[in-house]
Amino acid sequence: ETLDKGLEKSKSTFFDKLSKAVAGKSKVDDDVLDNLEEILVSSDVGVNTTLKIIDRIEARVEQDKYLGTTELNKILREEIAGLLSETNSGEETEYTIPANKKPYVLMVVGVNGVGKTTTIGKLAYQFKKNGFKVVLGAADTFRAAAIDQLQVWADRVDVPIVKQDMGSDPASVAFDALQSGVSQNADVIIIDTAGRLHNKVNLMNELTKVKRVMQKVIGDAPHDVLLVLDGSTGQNAFEQAKQFTAATEVTSLAVTKLDGTAKGGVVIGISDQFKIPVKYIGVGEGIEDLQVFNKYEFVDSFFK
Ligand code: GDP
Repeated sequence: ETLDKGLEKSKSTFFDKLSKAVAGKSKVDDDVLDNLEEILVSSDVGVNTTLKIIDRIEARVEQDKYLGTTELNKILREEIAGLLSETNSGEETEYTIPANKKPYVLMVVGVNGVGKTTTIGKLAYQFKKNGFKVVLGAADTFRAAAIDQLQVWADRVDVPIVKQDMGSDPASVAFDALQSGVSQNADVIIIDTAGRLHNKVNLMNELTKVKRVMQKVIGDAPHDVLLVLDGSTGQNAFEQAKQFTAATEVTSLAVTKLDGTAKGGVVIGISDQFKIPVKYIGVGEGIEDLQVFNKYEFVDSFFK
């Protein structure tokens, strides 16, 4: 029920608008489709993905010759879940890590302010709760506050943290964290990285170096590169996804702050445009307010 609560804003806006768009109409016509397009764009699904969805609905109208507005919800739900299926198996409900990769190395990237530290803290909490031994690595050495904040979460969750002074080499911290994780027999090591987007080449060089140095300890690390995006920033989130995917291979996404926004549709657009699975969604500031992304629950929360 946290998901429903968290997405209340997106949900009521999307559903209310959709109800208004079809009010007094029995069949889906050009007017309804125009309205639907507007609703999807204003929910931050993104223009490309919106047009894809509209095309699919149009194709269904053509195929069946007639589409009642009462069926529109059902079909829209199917089409959106279908789009998400291309990248998200969408069946996951638990915080798990592959058993054959131990320690599992999760490298977390994203710009400052998106909720990166909070997401790492929430993840550490969830993994620990699920019986995994967690070690954190504070490789965002650019800001003292980033190291301090991660320390606060490490204390709160009661997991070990590996850190150095501000300004030290991020790759060196990552190296230490992996060594420490291995020697402590950790199940999962979560590495925070610097959130600067000063320029693409620097970002790429830094992330590449961190990866290369980690591989000296664990040959196939990192096993997952998780990009954290702020779901309330709409097109900015798209732009950041573009920059980070150009700088490094991003293998999964966490979309935060979906509780405070009417723009939950950003999840659909980003997942579709970048073909990267959304693994987690942030629905609040609390320690429990992170959810494993489940596409069926997500889509249903829009239409309930
Ligand atoms: P970082 O700079 O990317 O590490 O960002 P922080 O983790 O420090 O988070 C920035 C702010 O966003 C903090 O006030 C967090 O409490 C808040 N925040 C993070 N995730 C969420 C979320 O899912 N929902 C809400 N409402 N706030 C969040």
